Amino acid sequence: MKYQKLKNYMKESQQIYDYIIIGGGITGVAAARRIQQLNKGDFIVLEEEKKTGGLCRTEYINGHYLDIGGGHVLHSKFKEVLDWIFEHIPQNDFNKFDTKVLIDLEGHPIEFPIELNLWQLPTELQVEYLYSYLNASGKKIKYENFESWIKNYLGDKIAENYMIPYNKKLWCMDISRLNTDWLIKIPETDVKLILKSIIERNSNFTEKVVSHKSFYYPKYGGFQSVFDAIQSPVKNNIITNYEVTNLNYDENTKVWHINNTYQARKIINTAPWTKLKITINQNSDKFDYENEFKNLEFLSNVISLWEREPYTHKAHWMYLPNDNVEQHREFYIHNFAPYSKPGGVMTDINRKRWLEFNKKWKAGTPMYEHENIYSYPLPTTIYKESMKKILNFSKLYNLYGLGRWGQWQYFNTDQCVKQVLDFFDNENNFEYFNIF
Ligand SMILES: Cc1cc2nc3c(=O)[nH]c(=O)nc-3n(C[C@H](O)[C@H](O)[C@H](O)COP(=O)(O)OP(=O)(O)OC[C@H]3O[C@@H](n4cnc5c(N)ncnc54)[C@H](O)[C@@H]3O)c2cc1C
Repeated sequence: MKYQKLKNYMKESQQIYDYIIIGGGITGVAAARRIQQLNKGDFIVLEEEKKTGGLCRTEYINGHYLDIGGGHVLHSKFKEVLDWIFEHIPQNDFNKFDTKVLIDLEGHPIEFPIELNLWQLPTELQVEYLYSYLNASGKKIKYENFESWIKNYLGDKIAENYMIPYNKKLWCMDISRLNTDWLIKIPETDVKLILKSIIERNSNFTEKVVSHKSFYYPKYGGFQSVFDAIQSPVKNNIITNYEVTNLNYDENTKVWHINNTYQARKIINTAPWTKLKITINQNSDKFDYENEFKNLEFLSNVISLWEREPYTHKAHWMYLPNDNVEQHREFYIHNFAPYSKPGGVMTDINRKRWLEFNKKWKAGTPMYEHENIYSYPLPTTIYKESMKKILNFSKLYNLYGLGRWGQWQYFNTDQCVKQVLDFFDNENNFEYFNIF
């Protein structure tokens, strides 16, 4: 038996795969599935953890379905992405919800997007917020970073009481270091729309204003059901509990060696680049990966599960800018996963903040807690140049980066899938950074 195992291992380690995919999150398995669908060759996925799924994992805890990467819902402006996902898990296996999100604004819960729901505030506050917004919108100021955008675009009332405190809690860093590319995630509004909403006392917002105006959530199993459906046809090609540390390219044979164990002609990396040691034989002086990695930063978060009284409201989640509350966001699981036990609340907090208060919550001890060390790639003002250099150099040697970590972008699952579909449709001429 031992001999057979050794023989299999030897056989495996001598095989040269067409593709090796590093990381078994949604980007990695979507890539595997796409290679399989397009008959592009043989492949394996190497995943560091015992379980695949990455940030799309769901744990079942005492009747609650907890998405341990943080609250995950499915929405996309890319029809081809939704169609592809529905090929794997039928649309009928999802509930579709009109997104109902709250913001705790100076103690008044108002709906998202804030600028179209000012009419929900007491009259005096409506006047103040509107006045401040109109004042800011009258000035045509060019913004250089996220902080200056907040102050100039939404007005100082929204900036000071929501956007700045909320983003400070979320990022726990100097937010002037963030770039503005990812503002695609932030509602696009205009003065006329805001005035109309106040007069009609109705936000009337469309998908153009908020991309997640509605969302899908699986009818069973939590968000991981989406991942599982994509993974199912490629399950036998996945090796878990295997951490990739070293990538070595042999220019003579044009083969990549992974940890001196596996070989492939092409590598798709979906894991954080900073965890890899990459050498290209005879050529290592040409590109200094380590130096570029210094500009790739990330943040970590902690997801906690709480049981509260069954809630009577219908909100799906709430943003909490108030610094006296530890978490920056909380999700009402039962309102989008009705099969999950009533009263389940999931909170999301930056790990740095969590450590600052010694993991001790004012509300007591959560039922369950999960740390995601790699949760957000930081969209700083300097990372992009380094990432471009890394991707453009690596692709010369058939080493490609895809997904949230592979491209170091603040991608949602749909954008990860979109990148995978686009990449394999046009592998030789794939353009990075065309998503924004
Ligand atoms: C708080 C939060 C909320 C979010 N909400 C939404 C949402 O509502 N909707 C949505 O669509 N998206 C959401 N996202 C984004 C979504 O989670 C990601 O876009 C997606 O899961 C990224 O998938 P990935 O495969 O690129 O990365 P990951 O899921 O991080 O997968 C990377 C995989 O690589 C593995 N790995 C790492 N290092 C190595 C190594 N050295 N060797 C081998 N394997 C390795 C990891 O274990 C992991 O399994 C959210 C993310 C967060 C953090």
